[in-house]
Amino acid sequence: MRWSRFYIPTLKEAPADAEVVSHKLLTRAGMIRKLTSGIYTYMPLGLRSITKAAAIVREEMDNAGGNEVSMPMVQPADLWQESGRWDFYGKELLRLKDRHNRDYCLGPTHEEVITDIVRGEVRSYRQLPMNLYQIQTKFRDEVRPRFGLMRGREFIMKDAYSFDKDQDGLDESYEAMYAAYNAIFSRMGLKFRPVEADSGSIGGSFSHEFMVLAETGEDTIAVCDSCSYAANVERAEIQCTGDECDMLDIPMEEVSTPNVRTIEEVSSFLDAPAAAFIKTLLFDADGEPVAALVRGDRELNDVKLKNLLHADTLEMATPEQVREWTGAPVGFAGPVNLKVKRIFADNELRLATDWIVGANKADAHIKHVSLKRDVELSGYADLRLITEDDVCPKCGKGISLTKGIEVGHVFKLGTKYSESLGCTFLDENGKEKVMLMGCYGIGVSRVVASCIEQNHDENGICFPPPIAPFEALVVNLDIKSDEVNDKVDEIYTFLKEQGIDVLVDDRKERPGVKFKDADLIGIPMQIVVGGRGLKNGILEAKDRRTGEKTELPVEGFAEAFK
Ligand code: ATP
Ligand code: MG
Ligand code: MG
Ligand code: MG
Repeated sequence: MRWSRFYIPTLKEAPADAEVVSHKLLTRAGMIRKLTSGIYTYMPLGLRSITKAAAIVREEMDNAGGNEVSMPMVQPADLWQESGRWDFYGKELLRLKDRHNRDYCLGPTHEEVITDIVRGEVRSYRQLPMNLYQIQTKFRDEVRPRFGLMRGREFIMKDAYSFDKDQDGLDESYEAMYAAYNAIFSRMGLKFRPVEADSGSIGGSFSHEFMVLAETGEDTIAVCDSCSYAANVERAEIQCTGDECDMLDIPMEEVSTPNVRTIEEVSSFLDAPAAAFIKTLLFDADGEPVAALVRGDRELNDVKLKNLLHADTLEMATPEQVREWTGAPVGFAGPVNLKVKRIFADNELRLATDWIVGANKADAHIKHVSLKRDVELSGYADLRLITEDDVCPKCGKGISLTKGIEVGHVFKLGTKYSESLGCTFLDENGKEKVMLMGCYGIGVSRVVASCIEQNHDENGICFPPPIAPFEALVVNLDIKSDEVNDKVDEIYTFLKEQGIDVLVDDRKERPGVKFKDADLIGIPMQIVVGGRGLKNGILEAKDRRTGEKTELPVEGFAEAFK
């Protein structure tokens, strides 16, 4: 590929709304362009990276027995009504009507559609297990799209769904996906960690998130310093709508439409550092803030409590209260330090977060239990608080908090959708049974952004080769010289023959511009060919990440790549 024919519109300045480095660099490197809030065009260079990430995902999914399909993005409301999520999903679901006034939505995820397919296809246990996946555009009307590809409204996801005849089968399918995810993110060259995640009403560690470790991550992960335990202390995230959400003992009428406010608005109520972490505020009829949902950091909760007018309406539940609300068997062995932010609807616990459980601070274990409205409650009894037995850092060395970006999520759904949608099969004895499902997502476009969060320096991106748009860049410093052009062609052809994906910078630009752009777009290996070097019999190879330069002999340079 020749740069003169390949469109890479690099920019000197980052867009004004870019807060994180991946957003800045993706735009400056000409990889993405914004159409409107949270909606981007993948430009030629950006698309190459995404395609490479998708190819790795596809390969590993196929290895793990996945069958690729492509489902429609527009989904009929009937299916969502059948599963019960039409009324439950909230504003993230973009709803639309056709000319006949029938309701549809743009797919934020595809449990309903896939279950509809499988219930129509699978009759017998002999057809199971089955794993279907797709790599496709999703739409979620995020409250606050930001960070470029990291939290878009339109984004690319790989979503897989497994169908099994029994629990053992589901466990096996889940394990296979868990292993595939480890392979995928390792191959991509990412520093990541699988963490126990919010498993809502299902309980237990039936959900894992794959977190790319980066300061700009929106999730907080609790990691044991000495054993392998890691869990998500997820930020509180709920969209309240006036008719559905109740806040503790404040009657609904007195709460004006609970609203999601911008940071700027929130700043007028609270001091700035606290405001930066507030996601949602609830207001009473007088427009006073009565409660806030914040991200899950313990310290920040405290900041918030000092600043809210009616702080007493929030949290600090005792274990006894929790036991009472949840009816759960709470078997703590020692004194418990437990915090809960809670949102009730019809006296049902709908959201709880940041459970800090332990005998003392040193072994405090943070367990996040979040009951979002898209995680249907099958009854309080299913909500199980962790007991001493569940705590991994048994080593008692204490935990530390670190930031992560959720790039993947594996989840045992059980019969949640197969039951409501009637996805059944006949077992060995001819008896009708409900299938057990799992769902498994990867944010393919988010992966590219998080890769940049982890791999950059002050000059630009330092792509790891597996998802770099090209593996090598040959910089032609003197396009007027036949000798240089011939050598560049020779190197280009040779690298192509070696199966190396190569771009040649043959633009009419000064060397300074070429070097700057080369560093900005972050192709891992640069090979510089100039008239002076050729006279001295050398080519220069530069490792983009380390900056290390190596002189290669012009004659026999090929040896270096064998
Ligand atoms: P988040 O907690 O970041 O909102 P999620 O838990 O809502 O993500 P899932 O429903 O688990 O997301 O979807 C599977 C994967 O899709 C996520 O692990 C993430 O990598 C990706 N993803 C989710 N929302 C977005 C988004 N708005 N933009 C880009 N990728 C996303
Ligand atoms: Mg989300
Ligand atoms: Mg999440
Ligand atoms: Mg998730």
